[in-house]
Amino acid sequence: MRRLAVLGATGSIGESTLDVVRRFPDRFRVVALAAGGRRIDRLAAQVRETGARWVAVPDEAAAEALRSRGVTAEILAGPEGLVQVAGLEEADVVVSAVVGAAGLLPTYAAVLAGKTVALANKESLVAAGEVVMAAARRTGARILPVDSEHSALFQALEGREPGQVRRLILTASGGPFRGRSRTSLAGVSVDQALTHPNWSMGPKITVDSATLMNKGLEVIEARWLFDVAADRIDVAVHPESIVHSLVEFVDGSLIAQLGPPDMRIPIAYALSHPERLPLPDLSVDLVRAGRLTFEEPDREAFPCLDLAYEALRAGGTVPAVLSGANEEAVAAFLSRRLGFLEIAEAVAAALEAHRPHALTTVQGALEADLWARRFVKGWVGRRGRG
Ligand code: NAD
Ligand code: MG
Repeated sequence: MRRLAVLGATGSIGESTLDVVRRFPDRFRVVALAAGGRRIDRLAAQVRETGARWVAVPDEAAAEALRSRGVTAEILAGPEGLVQVAGLEEADVVVSAVVGAAGLLPTYAAVLAGKTVALANKESLVAAGEVVMAAARRTGARILPVDSEHSALFQALEGREPGQVRRLILTASGGPFRGRSRTSLAGVSVDQALTHPNWSMGPKITVDSATLMNKGLEVIEARWLFDVAADRIDVAVHPESIVHSLVEFVDGSLIAQLGPPDMRIPIAYALSHPERLPLPDLSVDLVRAGRLTFEEPDREAFPCLDLAYEALRAGGTVPAVLSGANEEAVAAFLSRRLGFLEIAEAVAAALEAHRPHALTTVQGALEADLWARRFVKGWVGRRGRG
């Protein structure tokens, strides 16, 4: 029986995680849940269904809202509560699925506590990958990827020598705007950006997929998870989203993982590794899929991809600035204070203005992230729409 703490329980990954748990009641028990304050009814229902003993919410108002819904679990209010459930003695596996920089401290806490971390929150590795991975080596914490591309790479790499790997190839769906020119993207709406062709996900990552920043963040995530340098990580656009990523070995062999685009597959693998759980309703019919196609990403229409490579190559605090600036710019786009193309412009401006320094602590990454958010807030304000 694996005991789980699910952080970001009410989100897209959180709900899919609970769906996997529901299918295997004799394998998993949820001991703790954590979420933001937006979907309190849903969170209360989850506490009731799972019987979680602890539940963390961002503030006292959310805690009160839970109590008024008859929740009797121990409620931890405030950001410290999130960190506390991440390090709970009673949990074996911590599912890190809070969105954005808010996921960094709890992910780090789980790593420090030596947990098995099922990692969806890629932003924590983008902002502080070096520090988090070094801590994992010290404590023996295992970080198992939930991100579908990284789960694919992890599966393709299992049992192989690092020296035999030539390069990693991350696949990207290309998002809703694949094939469009840069100029045609100037006026796209929030609704258009939120319509992903293959995956149903939270709003931030859906916009990140439309700008290709998601793939850029994933390149950085892969760099730290698998210890492979930026120049050996490539991106191929694969609109069918069936090949989830590939590893090329020194002899020219490619090993890939394929499957339907359903996050329950990588989630289940991270929860039960090294075992595979039966998910009989999930299957892909390659004959029916017909063609699997691959193309170059359009780096001019989607400059965020190269901004991420640039940040990774610069190192230090720069990836944290990329991540923080992007999160702030995406929030501004979602609240209609920024145009779609301006997301990349805001991130580029932040990278330009930042004075990079070495990164040795998670605190340093949080400070760089905060600096970038403030910078982008000011930048949006100066644009006259803030
Ligand atoms: P989402 O927006 O659907 O859910 C986010 C969750 O985090 C919610 O439960 C929300 O309440 C919680 N949350 C937000 N701010 C919080 C805070 N300050 N304190 C506590 N909880 C907070 O997002 P998602 O799509 O599930 O993505 C979650 C993470 O997983 C992201 O880092 C994303 O990049 C990654 N990811 C998601 C997918 C996917 O298919 N959705 C795939 C790969 C990776
Ligand atoms: Mg992904």
